[in-house]
Amino acid sequence: MRNFQEKIIDDSILEKMSLENVFNIFNDNVFPMLDEEEREYCRDLQEFCLNLDPKIDKSKDVYVLFPELGKHGYMQRINLWKDFKPYGMKKEILLATHMSMLDPQLELARLASGILCGNPTFHYFKHGGSNEEIRKVQDELMSGEKVGCIGITEPSQGSDAVNMKTTCTKSEEGDIIYNGEKVYTTNGPKADYFCTYAVYDTEKPRKTMVQSMISREMGVKTNRLNISSVPRVHIAHTILDNVRIPKEYILADNGEGYVRLFEGLVPERLGIMGSGIGICWAGLIYGIIYTNLRKQFGQEVIKFEGVGFGLAELLSKCTAATSLALQAATIYDEKVLFADEVNKDAEKWVAGVSSQGKYYVSKLTHEVCYEVQQHAGGISVTDNTPIDELMDTSKIEEVIGGARNIQLFIIQNQLRRYKSLF
Ligand SMILES: Cc1cc2nc3c(=O)[nH]c(=O)nc-3n(C[C@H](O)[C@H](O)[C@H](O)COP(=O)(O)OP(=O)(O)OC[C@H]3O[C@@H](n4cnc5c(N)ncnc54)[C@H](O)[C@@H]3O)c2cc1C
Repeated sequence: MRNFQEKIIDDSILEKMSLENVFNIFNDNVFPMLDEEEREYCRDLQEFCLNLDPKIDKSKDVYVLFPELGKHGYMQRINLWKDFKPYGMKKEILLATHMSMLDPQLELARLASGILCGNPTFHYFKHGGSNEEIRKVQDELMSGEKVGCIGITEPSQGSDAVNMKTTCTKSEEGDIIYNGEKVYTTNGPKADYFCTYAVYDTEKPRKTMVQSMISREMGVKTNRLNISSVPRVHIAHTILDNVRIPKEYILADNGEGYVRLFEGLVPERLGIMGSGIGICWAGLIYGIIYTNLRKQFGQEVIKFEGVGFGLAELLSKCTAATSLALQAATIYDEKVLFADEVNKDAEKWVAGVSSQGKYYVSKLTHEVCYEVQQHAGGISVTDNTPIDELMDTSKIEEVIGGARNIQLFIIQNQLRRYKSLF
C-alpha cells in the first residue's frame, strides 16, 4: 500500500514504478546466471511478493508480516524446515534479495529473526542437541509467529565483541544466570527469543563462552533505541539482570559458544550480501524506470550522458556483486553445506569471501542508492518512490554484521599470512 504524505509524481510514471517491473528488469539481468530450479524458485518468490506488496502498510511495524513469510517457509531458506524446499545458501541469497526488493526493512528484521536467531537452533541439532524446547523455539521462529534476535554487541564491546563483558554463572541445577547488557539488538524490543552470548570468565572468553536461547519471560528487559533510518524495525538496548536460563535452553556451553559464534558468522555475512544485492537492484531499477520516463529539455533524462552513463556504471557493479554473491553461495552449498565431507580449502575461501562480499556489497548499496538519487532528482528523496527508504536502509546494511573496517581487518589478516609463502 503506497501512502504518500503528498503525491507529486506523475501518474503515468507512478504506474510504471511497480514491483512487477522491478522483477522484470531483475530477471532480465539475473536469470541468465541461474539454473531452471533457481528460476522457478524466484518465480514463486516473485508471485508471493507481488501478492504481499499491496497488503504492506508502511505506517506499521514490519513484524505483522512475519506470519505471512512463515506460512511459505520464507523466514529463512538456508536450512531445511518442515518440507520447504528447495533450500541452501543460494536459495537464502535469492530469498534475501527478493525480500529487500519488496521491503528492505522487513528484510532487515527477517534476517535478524530467521538467520541470526534461527540459524543457531539448526546448528544446535546439527551438533547433537536434542531438547524439544529448542525444537519448539525453532518452529515458532520459522513460522513467523514469534520474533527472534541476537545479542552479541555490548556498550563497550563493539567490533571487539569476543572480549564481551556479559558474564554467566552456573547453578547447582545446571541452569545458567546471565548478567550484562547488549546493544543494537535488532528486533530486541519486539523479541520473544534472544540468542545471547556470555562468558564464565572475562579473562578467557574463547574458552568459556556460552550461547543460550533466552525467552523474554526469563526476565530480559529491553529499551528501544531511536534509529530513525529504519523506523519500522525495533532495535534495543538489552538488559540482562540475573536472568536465569533453564539448562534446556543452553545451546552451547563452556567455550563451545565461541565456536558457534564463528560458525554463524559466515552464513550471516553471506545472507547480508543477499539483502544488499536486493537493495542495489531495487534502487537501481527504480532509477532506470524513472529516468526512462521523466522528460526535461524535451527528452527522457536517461538520454543525458550524465545520467545514463552513471546508471550504466552502477549496473556493471550490481552485476559483478550479484555474480560474486551467487558464486560464493554455490561454493558454500556444494563444498560445505551439502558436502559429505567438508572441503577445508573451500570452507576457508568462503569465510574470507563472505567478509570481502559483505564489505563490497553493503558499501555498494550506499553508492547505488546515493547515486540513483542524484541521477533521478528530487522525487527520489520524497516518499513518492521507494528509493529513499532503500537509501536509509543501506546505511544499516553497512554496519550490521560487523562494520566496514572489521571486514577489511579480517581480509588484511589473510594478506599478512601470505608472507609465509615467499
Ligand atoms: C542498526 C544496527 C543493528 C545492529 N544489529 C545488531 C544485532 O542484532 N545484534 C548484535 O549483536 N549487534 C548488532 N549490531 C552491532 C554491529 O555489529 C556493531 O555496530 C559493529 O559490530 C561495530 O561495533 P560498534 O558500532 O560498537 O563500533 P566500534 O567497535 O566502537 O568501532 C568504531 C569504529 O572503529 C572502527 N574499528 C574498530 N576496531 C577497528 C580495528 N581493529 N581496525 C580498524 N577499525 C576499527 C569500526 O569499524 C568503527 O568504524 C547492530 C548495529 C547497528 C548500528
